[in-house]
Amino acid sequence: RRQRNKEGMSLDYLRSPVVCVLGHVDTGKTKILDKIRHTNVQDGEAGGITQQIGATFVPEDAIRAQTKMVKEFVKTEIKLPGLLIIDTPGHESFSNLRSRGSSMCDLAILVVDIMHGLEPQTLESLGLLRKGNTPFVVALNKIDRLFDWRRMPTSSVKEAVKKQNKNTKDEFDERVKGVVTEFAEQGLNVALFWEKVDFTDYVPLVPTSAHTGDGMGDLISLLVTYSQGVLAPKLMLSEELEAIVLEVKVIAGLGTTVDVILRNGILKEGDTLVLTGTEGPFSTQARALLMPQPLRELRVKNAYVNHKAIIASQGVKITGKDLEKTLAGTPIFVAKKPDEIEVLKDEASKVVSSMLSAIKLQERGVYVQASTLGSLEALLAFLKQSKIPYCGVNIGPVHKRDVMKASVMLEHDSQWAVILAFDVKVEREAQEIADNVGVKIFTADIIYHLFDNFLLHRKELHDRQRRQHEAMAIFPCKLRILPNCVFNTRDPIVVGVVVEAGLIKKGTVLTIPSKSFVDVGVVSSLEVNHKQVDIAHKGVEVCIKIEPTGGEAPKLYGRHFDHTDLLVSKVTRESIDAVKKYFREDLQKGDWQLFIELKKIFQII
Ligand code: GDP
Repeated sequence: RRQRNKEGMSLDYLRSPVVCVLGHVDTGKTKILDKIRHTNVQDGEAGGITQQIGATFVPEDAIRAQTKMVKEFVKTEIKLPGLLIIDTPGHESFSNLRSRGSSMCDLAILVVDIMHGLEPQTLESLGLLRKGNTPFVVALNKIDRLFDWRRMPTSSVKEAVKKQNKNTKDEFDERVKGVVTEFAEQGLNVALFWEKVDFTDYVPLVPTSAHTGDGMGDLISLLVTYSQGVLAPKLMLSEELEAIVLEVKVIAGLGTTVDVILRNGILKEGDTLVLTGTEGPFSTQARALLMPQPLRELRVKNAYVNHKAIIASQGVKITGKDLEKTLAGTPIFVAKKPDEIEVLKDEASKVVSSMLSAIKLQERGVYVQASTLGSLEALLAFLKQSKIPYCGVNIGPVHKRDVMKASVMLEHDSQWAVILAFDVKVEREAQEIADNVGVKIFTADIIYHLFDNFLLHRKELHDRQRRQHEAMAIFPCKLRILPNCVFNTRDPIVVGVVVEAGLIKKGTVLTIPSKSFVDVGVVSSLEVNHKQVDIAHKGVEVCIKIEPTGGEAPKLYGRHFDHTDLLVSKVTRESIDAVKKYFREDLQKGDWQLFIELKKIFQII
């Protein structure tokens, strides 16, 4: 076996390519991975969404077993130890995590649903691949959904297509043509992999069904052929270690361990590692290097096998002292000599500070805290998309200093005095201070829950503020009295009016600009067609009851004013501000226009 070739760690050894799977949600990324590893992790995931990157190693014998139907490939010598497939999160809120994952990738599978063609995240993924200069193949998935598709487990997908009924074949051709055109519109040449031999100009398109398995063998054999052909120079094993921490986990009997993708180099038991922690870089010894059985994912519980040395590419679990401090998403360095430790620590801290300082903060917004850089980025991407600003970020448990930072918002706008804590602990002291000063801390380990709780809180806060400012917030309105609908002329005045502009609600003080701004009184009830209402809009005829305002003598209809006078709501700077702040959603465009008009009438600057 290949192991023997690498005696003496010769550098002509090809490592396994790190492969990642990208594409729009629901195109079948998880299912393709499941098909490859014959397991089903989909059901066990939090909320059905993969929140961390996991990896699957597909060794040579598994490659052979899964490509038996591809006659051309059976004769091909496999020069790679296998494929290391990273299980990239599929949901759109993970675009940044995807970018982190894909920067580790040698080769990608871009999954497109043959029934849907290119979708928003297909384009987003395409952008990432182009940015990272990552070569990729397109899996045109769900071909079994073509009309009358018959599965052919013993055929290559080219033969399988050929053997379908004419209708099915026609639909296939048409849909492929559509996808090819859509890619061309993105400036990309793609072609069915059996139509082109040279893939320097064309991106190969592999029809697949993760459901029936058709094309899966072709996909795997293409990945192998491509890797050991065009990609070979990039897959040479280097002496430099290239590794990234995916997850930090406590395992019974092992203590805190880190799950690592070793992309290049050789990791040995006892190596001095330099890692990035929540409190800064630190060094520790790799006590044990563990690997699960092939074809199992790191996250699936199983017995681990101890290794003296691990050669890239692999997913590795490392045990050692102090690992609980490690920040997921950061690189691992190995110090060959003791004096290298400090240098590497410098390098490590640069990586994180550059990652954190690259995050653009707003002056006002929520405070965001997450367990890993990846999940922090994912959460931020989600907030950005939802137009929720953030003013601070941090990684690791919520400490007192985080609460203090978040509490600054209390001076501005209490809706932002919030910490969104994703998958992290909140220190007791921090929680106590938060409760005292009035900072809300939301914790959850599913982004959506965190987000929903925050939105709910914000709505409650908003509703409460509306109730508090109800009396202050006077809506703009212009009322015309209907002369034959005067039911009572004084204390209270009861008249029918038509709303000429704006909107009238209970509590509005009415005044008459034409009579040197005499206050008529305050509207205490409204009726439309003998039914009590809270608000009446432009054009509505409404019967209103007007009570005297506290300070002034009651006004009389017929004496102080009559139907020739226009009644308007008495607005002030404060009332306008209150409406703007808490009742914005109640007003329409024309109503704001009336505000401007009233501001002129009342000479409000
Ligand atoms: P992801 O969001 O891209 O990871 O998509 P999933 O793997 O979760 O698949 C989304 C849905 O499509 C699931 O219901 C799958 O069972 C289904 N699906 C995935 N691949 C195929 C396929 O090749 N054929 C059919 N018919 N359904 C598929």
